[in-house]
Amino acid sequence: MSRRRQKRNQLLWADQPGLFDLPSESDAGSANLQALGETAFELPERMRFLSFGSGSSGNCSYIGTPECGLLIDAGVNNKYVTEQLAANGIDIHTIQGILLTHDHSDHVRFAYAILRYNRHMRLYATPKAFNGLLRRHSMSRRIADYHTPIYKEFPFTVGPMTVTAFETSHDGSDNCGFCIEGPGAVFVVATDTGTITARTDYYVRKAQYLMIESDYDADMLRTGPYPQHLKARIASTIGHLDNSDTGRYVASVAAAGLLRRVFLCHLSDKNNTPQTAMGTVCHELESAGIAVCRDAEPTVNETRIHVMALPREKCSQLILLHGEP
Ligand SMILES: [Zn+2]
Ligand SMILES: [Zn+2]
Repeated sequence: MSRRRQKRNQLLWADQPGLFDLPSESDAGSANLQALGETAFELPERMRFLSFGSGSSGNCSYIGTPECGLLIDAGVNNKYVTEQLAANGIDIHTIQGILLTHDHSDHVRFAYAILRYNRHMRLYATPKAFNGLLRRHSMSRRIADYHTPIYKEFPFTVGPMTVTAFETSHDGSDNCGFCIEGPGAVFVVATDTGTITARTDYYVRKAQYLMIESDYDADMLRTGPYPQHLKARIASTIGHLDNSDTGRYVASVAAAGLLRRVFLCHLSDKNNTPQTAMGTVCHELESAGIAVCRDAEPTVNETRIHVMALPREKCSQLILLHGEP
């Protein structure tokens, strides 16, 4: 409503307070929300999250608002991603591009196919990660046409979202986590990291929504089928996080009170199960006195921290992120 019209309405109804009292525009939303309760309707600009697959068989997820979205990694094929976006009412044309965490094949395998079918998208990757992608994979050089270089610690905006890449500890050519600040939510991705770096910790502590890897159970890895050199690589500080490390770390972050939901990602097929990862992480949280909800359904105004393990080879439900504005 224009200022002039608002003023005219105020003058018009000045002698009839109550029924036609118009709150100022800035008050209107919050007053209505308080009256109806936040659950009464969805705010359309709020962020949503969807995982198409998570783990060594392929990683790809979606984050965005109805008007603007991003994919995180491209390890799931274009057909499945397109189908699942449509099934969840997300217009693929709103997706601006792919954020690349690093150049391992479970994260990049379908990058060119996705871009080729969706020429409006960009590939957001650090120059080192992009060069690694070209060097390590037999992918068309034409993928360079889609590349937008990004740099760690330098925020960039995509629609209403501000994205900051940060250092993780892994053995890709270059390795990033992402802090994505959007309408009503701060979402942080920390996957493929053998230890929590100082910069990862700095960004994770901003998160209301955290996707963090819980790759393996230490006993299952030790006694499992992998050759010794692979076991050593996974357990190293440039490999992956085990369930206990993830649980203890998430508990230390959750104690600060910002965190609302945790999505455990990149669960190993051979050295972990969803039940083992959930059991260990939730146990660490509860041991630290933090109330946990294992329910995967979206909720609002919930005081407990929701924890869920993302499915390895199928799509999750669409999750609405209801952070504080
Ligand atoms: Zn990796
Ligand atoms: Zn990976």
